[in-house]
Amino acid sequence: MLNSPPANEGDAAASAASAASGSPPRASRVHLRTIIAWITTLVVGVAVVVSAALVFLTSFINHTSELLAAAVESVRLAEEIEIDLLLHSRANDPLIQEDIAGDLRGKLAAAEQYVTTPAEAEVLRRAVAVVDAYLAGVPGDPRRRPDAAYAAVQQLVDVNVAQSIEAQASARRWNSLADAIGITAVALLVIVAGLLLWWLRARAFRPLWDIARAMETFGSGDLDARAVEAGPAELREVARRFNQMASALSAQRRAQMTFLGGVAHDLRSPLCTLRMAVSALDREAPPPDARTRVTMGIVARQTGQLERMVSDFLDIAKIEAGELELRMHGQDLRDLVHVVCEQFRGWSPRHPIELATQGVPVQIRCDELRIEQAITNLLSNAIKYSPDGGPVHVVVSSAAGEAVVAVTDRGVGMQPEDRRRIFEPFTRVGLSRESIPGAGLGLYIVNKIVIAHGGRVEVDTAPERGSTFRIHLPLAAPN
Ligand code: ADP
Repeated sequence: MLNSPPANEGDAAASAASAASGSPPRASRVHLRTIIAWITTLVVGVAVVVSAALVFLTSFINHTSELLAAAVESVRLAEEIEIDLLLHSRANDPLIQEDIAGDLRGKLAAAEQYVTTPAEAEVLRRAVAVVDAYLAGVPGDPRRRPDAAYAAVQQLVDVNVAQSIEAQASARRWNSLADAIGITAVALLVIVAGLLLWWLRARAFRPLWDIARAMETFGSGDLDARAVEAGPAELREVARRFNQMASALSAQRRAQMTFLGGVAHDLRSPLCTLRMAVSALDREAPPPDARTRVTMGIVARQTGQLERMVSDFLDIAKIEAGELELRMHGQDLRDLVHVVCEQFRGWSPRHPIELATQGVPVQIRCDELRIEQAITNLLSNAIKYSPDGGPVHVVVSSAAGEAVVAVTDRGVGMQPEDRRRIFEPFTRVGLSRESIPGAGLGLYIVNKIVIAHGGRVEVDTAPERGSTFRIHLPLAAPN
């Protein structure tokens, strides 16, 4: 089901409402490209800072872990040296002592590769000197003091333990710094993303939606629809150009309609004279031969058709100029529809009109002639677009504060995607437009009349299955 597009009157309000929907975005001098450049720079800046911090932190953590590994190795060697010193001092066999002394010297030499600070190098150098002095002394020599060698090696253990404690403390400090950098980076990114979303919504998307809405409203026939010129410079430029184009198109369309109205006005009198002359001729001096009678009939029918088209043109000119005057009266819609259906009865024997109305009055306020005109258009279309014949059902009902007239045919129907376009002037759709005559104005007028009454037109249709057109009108308030 599709609602008819709004017309000038309704849409003027709609576009005003669109302009005023919420608080319209403020015009800014900022360019979209400047904002995008700023945001990109900010995001890239944050990413570079965070990456640099990550590189720095990982190399520092690597360095700390190397320090810790060296300290652990130094402690392990120092403790082995201490054990060797103990074994050496207790061994009585000179051969075993010589073997242990070799081991000791080898381990002291190996300890050098794990030195990480000048202080540790100094402690190791002293330990090597004291251990060498111990090994060089002969038993009974006062310089041969295992406790002094043991103490010097213990110093090496102490230095490395102190270094590993310092490395751990430093690692903890850098860990806290890494946490702070990570949290700040995430907070910054969240703030940037939030600001970006807010800006996109308020300053970029809202104007964009307004432009899209204005385009849609304009496209559906409201020539007064204009976009709000707001937001970044580029979007304001798009809105300005759309407004210029819309003004040019609507001026052009109004000029065409004024011209059409003028031509229609001038055609009306000669056509009326022609129709009256034909009917007077037919009445006063009926043609004697069959051929002339047929010709006169054709002339009368074609003149009537021309008059209807001319009257459609005049109506359109009035609608476009906003001069569609309505003489509103209270009316039972059932009576009105009944009158129209009676006019159609017998019009085409292959299209029986079946009217169904509800038992209680369907009271509306309307311009009787205009609503009759709208229903007449729907009925004549139902017949016209059912070339193989078939009943036309007309139902009058009321529900939810609305009066509804539904006209259903079993004719050619339409593609669902065409339903919106058929309310535009001079628009004809489907294959039927080739074979069935028409100017594409009837539904445009129906729609405008119904909207001027505060109602709407809906369409249900399927190709080769027929169509239902529903006019919804507000029910009159009970007295
Ligand atoms: P016209 O009938 O003069 O072409 P309208 O404005 O009344 O102009 O209709 C516009 C178009 O809508 C028609 O050309 C036709 O393609 C389609 N249409 C209208 N009514 C029907 C209907 N009852 N069944 C199928 N198509 C319809």
